[in-house]
Amino acid sequence: MDLHAWITQQVDHAERLIDENEFPPSQTEGVRLRCEADRRILARHKAWPGSDWCDHCDADLTTYLADCPELLDLAHAHGITPEILASLDRPTTPEQKLRPGRRLGLADILAPRTPMGEVPGALRGPNWKPRST
Ligand SMILES: [Zn+2]
Repeated sequence: MDLHAWITQQVDHAERLIDENEFPPSQTEGVRLRCEADRRILARHKAWPGSDWCDHCDADLTTYLADCPELLDLAHAHGITPEILASLDRPTTPEQKLRPGRRLGLADILAPRTPMGEVPGALRGPNWKPRST
């Protein structure tokens, strides 16, 4: 279970408690509105399709959903502990090393990012030369 799924589970639980009349009548509407707001935030801060990146935090997709500040704040409001946070799924893709000013392309998102210098020589093609930096 990842951070997004954990928060969704907490909102599901709160909504179930509303349905079961577990809140005093004076608090029910407030809790319902809070759940609705949480669902809106969850809908905005979701994974870019097929990836572990938050598709709302920045256009370059450089923030893992697990590190999304909005979701971490939301999780805090739902009482997440460091132990629970540490137990949640984290992305297994390697960290991005983007050059300044470079945006991620669709190929970067969909395919593993291996620098050409680390690709076996037979796969690089005969004309490949290391880029001078
Ligand atoms: Zn986000």
